[in-house]
Amino acid sequence: MKWSAVPEVATSRVMSQALATLYVFGGSASLLAVLGAETPWVDRALLSGLAVSALLAGGVVLRWGSRWPRPAFHIAVLQATAVVVAGVVLAPDAPTALAVGALTSFLAIASCFFFSLPLAVGHTALALAGLTAGLAVRGDVALPLALSLDAMVLGLSVVTRGLVLRASSANRDPLTGLTNRRGFDQALHELMRVVSRTDEPMSAALLDLDHFKAINDTQGHDAGDRVLRSVAKAWRRALPPTAVLARHGGDEFALLLPGLPGPAALTLVQQLRARHPDVGMSCGVAEHQPGESAAQLMRRADLALYTAKSSGRGRCELGAGPDTSDLVADLTAALDAGDVTVHFQPIRDLRTDQVVGVEALARWTHPERGLVSPAEFVAVAERHGLMPRLGEHVLRSACGQMSALHAGTGRRLRLGVNVSGRELSDPAYAQRVRTVLAETGWPATETVLEVTESLVDAECSTAVATLHELRGLGLGIAIDDFGTGYSSLSRLDTLPVAILKLDSSFIATITTSPRRATMLRSIVGMAHVLGLDVVAEGVETAEQDAQLRAIGCRFGQGWLYGRPAPLADVAAQLDRADDAHALHA
Ligand code: C2E
Ligand code: CA
Ligand code: CA
Repeated sequence: MKWSAVPEVATSRVMSQALATLYVFGGSASLLAVLGAETPWVDRALLSGLAVSALLAGGVVLRWGSRWPRPAFHIAVLQATAVVVAGVVLAPDAPTALAVGALTSFLAIASCFFFSLPLAVGHTALALAGLTAGLAVRGDVALPLALSLDAMVLGLSVVTRGLVLRASSANRDPLTGLTNRRGFDQALHELMRVVSRTDEPMSAALLDLDHFKAINDTQGHDAGDRVLRSVAKAWRRALPPTAVLARHGGDEFALLLPGLPGPAALTLVQQLRARHPDVGMSCGVAEHQPGESAAQLMRRADLALYTAKSSGRGRCELGAGPDTSDLVADLTAALDAGDVTVHFQPIRDLRTDQVVGVEALARWTHPERGLVSPAEFVAVAERHGLMPRLGEHVLRSACGQMSALHAGTGRRLRLGVNVSGRELSDPAYAQRVRTVLAETGWPATETVLEVTESLVDAECSTAVATLHELRGLGLGIAIDDFGTGYSSLSRLDTLPVAILKLDSSFIATITTSPRRATMLRSIVGMAHVLGLDVVAEGVETAEQDAQLRAIGCRFGQGWLYGRPAPLADVAAQLDRADDAHALHA
C-alpha cells in the first residue's frame, strides 16, 4: 500500500473497537494514577471525573462507533487529546501528571492506525504539543523530562505506522494497489456481520474484463498490466468510500457495496463500465438475502456473471433471489415433465417483406417464480450439466413442431436453434442432431444452428470439428450476437459460417450514431463479399427498419416484426398477412 494512504485495516468497526479499548484502558490507568497520588481528595476529584468520563466514552464508542463515518473518529481522537491535556494540567502532582501524559501514546497509536499520513502526523503533533504545553503550565516538571516523554511517544508512533503498513500489504494486490482476494474475504465477513445485525442492504458484484487474454497475447503483458491498473484507478475514483473494490485474480475484480440494494448496485456497476468504455466488461451482481452466507452470496454473483458472459459478454446481470440449487432441481423436474416449451420469433426478408424463418427460443414458467429468463436458466443448465438435455429437448420440440406445420399447411420456414458452448464441445453432439432430424423428419438444409462467437474458442478443436461436421450434414451455421465481442475476421474465415446475426445492442445505436451506421454499412458490405447473409436482431422501431433497408441489410428480427410466440400464433399471423397480401394483389 502507499505509505501515505489510509491503512486498509482501519474500517469503522476496527477503529471503534480500538478506540474504545484505548478509552477504557486510559480511563482505568488515570484512576489508578489518581489513587496513588498523595494529596487531599478534593485535589483529585476533577481528575477522577475525567477518568470516569473516559470510561463512559469507551462504552459509547464500542456501542455505536462502528456506524460512524470516518470524520467522527477525528473528532473522537481530538476529544481524547483535550481530555488528556486537561488531565495533565489538573493532576495533583508531577508523577501523576507524567503518568496521565503518557496516555498521549494511545492517541499517537490510534492516529497512526486510523488516518492517512498527513492527518496522523497532524494529530500526533497536536497531542505532543498539548502534552508539552500542559506540563510547562504546571511548572513542576522539568523541560527535559517532558521532552523525553515526547520522544517516547514519537518512537511508538513511528513503529506503529510501520507495522500497520506492513500488515496491510499482506492484503494488497501489488499491481493495482487494490485489496487482494484475502483482504476481500476479510472485508466480506466483516460486512456480513454488520449486515446481519443491522438488516441494511448490501450487494456484491464480480466484474470480468472481456477478452483480456487477447490483449495479453497480442499486445504483451505490459499492456495487460497497464489496462488493469488504469481500470482499477478509474473504478476506485468512481466508487463511494464505503465500497470495497478488490482484484480477485487475473482479470476479475470483486466489489462489495454496503447499503446498496441490488438494482442500485447494478446501476452503479453499469456506470463503472461507462468510465472505461474502451475496455469491455461483463459483470454479475447479487443482493444479500436474509440468512444467506457469504459463500452463497458470492456464488450467486458468480452465476450472474456467468449468465452475463454467456448471453454475449459486455453485459451486467442481476442475480436471481434465492440460491440456484433450488433452480437446478426445479429445472430438472421441468425437463422431466416436459414443462420447458419453445416459442418462435419470425425472421423477415426485408426485400420481399415475407417471413422466411423463425428462431426457436426456450421458455420456462417456474411454478412459484413465474417466467424465468432463458439467459438465466440456460446458464444454470450449463453449469450443472443439464445443457445436453435442455438443448436436445428444444431441438426436438422445434423440429417436430416445424415438421407438423409443414405437413398441415405446406409452410416451410428456416428454423434457427441456439446452441451452447457445452453442446458444441461434446464430440457426440453432431450425431445427436442427426438423430433428432431423422426422427422428426425435419430437413437439415432448413436448419440453422446459432452459436455465439465467444463460445467457439479457437482453441477448442472439438467445437470447430463439430461445426464442420454439422455443415457437412447440410445445416447452416450462424454467428449469434455478432458485434458484441472482439469479432474476429479470421475466425469468420476458418469457421463454416453462412449467416451473421448482428446483436441488438448494435442495432439499437444505428439511428443515433452515424459512426455505427457507417460500421453497419461496412459489415453488410463485407458480408456480401464473403457470401454471408446478415440478420439484424432486436429491430424495434420503424426508423431502424428504414435504416437497415437503406443500407441493404437483407434480414431482420425483432419486436417490430413479431415477438417470440407459440408456433400456432406465428402461423396464424402469417396466414393473416398472406390474406392481406392477396387482397391487395
Ligand atoms: P439470443 O439468441 O440473442 O435471442 C434473441 C433474444 O432477443 C431473445 O431473448 C428474444 O426474445 C430477444 N428479442 C427479440 N427481439 C427483440 C427486440 O426487438 N427487442 C429486444 N429487447 N429483445 C428482443 P430471450 O428469449 O430472452 O433469450 C435470451 C437468450 O437465451 C438468447 O439470446 C439465447 O442466447 C439464449 N437461449 C434461448 N433459448 C435457448 C436455447 O434453447 N438454447 C440455448 N443454448 N440458448 C437459448
Ligand atoms: Ca440466437
Ligand atoms: Ca442474438
